[in-house]
Amino acid sequence: MPPVFRFAPSPNGPLHLGHAYSALLNFDRARATGGRLLLRIEDIDATRCRPEYETAIYEDLAWLGMTWETPVRRQSEYLSDYRTALEKLSALGLVYPAFESRAEIARLVAAREAAGPWPRDPDGAPHYPGTAKSLSVDERARLIDSGAPYALRLDMACACRRVSGLTWNELGEGPDGARGIVQAQPEAWGDVILARKETPTSYHLSVVVDDALQGIGEVVRGQDLFHATSVHRLLQVLLSLPEPAYRHHALIRDGEGRKLSKSSRSTGLRELRAAGATPAGIRRLVGLG
Ligand code: GLU
Repeated sequence: MPPVFRFAPSPNGPLHLGHAYSALLNFDRARATGGRLLLRIEDIDATRCRPEYETAIYEDLAWLGMTWETPVRRQSEYLSDYRTALEKLSALGLVYPAFESRAEIARLVAAREAAGPWPRDPDGAPHYPGTAKSLSVDERARLIDSGAPYALRLDMACACRRVSGLTWNELGEGPDGARGIVQAQPEAWGDVILARKETPTSYHLSVVVDDALQGIGEVVRGQDLFHATSVHRLLQVLLSLPEPAYRHHALIRDGEGRKLSKSSRSTGLRELRAAGATPAGIRRLVGLG
């Protein structure tokens, strides 16, 4: 079976050099291994994703000389797949609704931090500080029936008790140079959000479901997602999904060493193209010349 790779951009802004690097690495890996390359549009966040960005993704990648299989999977068209996975986790007793607003969460975190150190996840966000996990079944039902908004969270402590010795095979490199068999540390993330009242999924849940459904054997993506792999491995084991290998790559940075952002004009593929850059020039710029 030829290995399957995927490039999975979110259409919430224009592509920049960092995306070009990730996309071309996937394309090159697929070519070098006689594998297949899929493009996946990660558009579950309806408030931030726009059709014009999706169109621009296809144009920019084609301009770079890439080809990919069609039809392209657009996550927004497959919500029922994610709902099914969520129901499996719920049936294991690992999911609970939390009703606090962002502002309430910020207040609770401030109160916790006033009393001492409060854990933060690898992205720097504070762990969920609320107590929704201990609400009674009746109280949950009453709040849901009242129409209150909520997030569905993973009971991380409970989930971690079900698995042990969680690892992944890192073919690339973590931000601190980790490679080979890496110990997953999902507990570092606290009770992550798996879904919300209006959206039956989240980045973590849909990426894991899709990588399995699409038969991805090697996930090639930026080091900014290295630590998230711990959550992905946990969900894969809980949902009995196959384990891909991971190849995290260094991020392309700007002149000041900052991660590129979708709003930074000087490194946008459109701007570079308008300024006369060629696809071969882009390859050279990202070190794949
Ligand atoms: N959609 C994610 C992004 O644009 C990438 C997800 C992944 O590669 O796992 O950052």
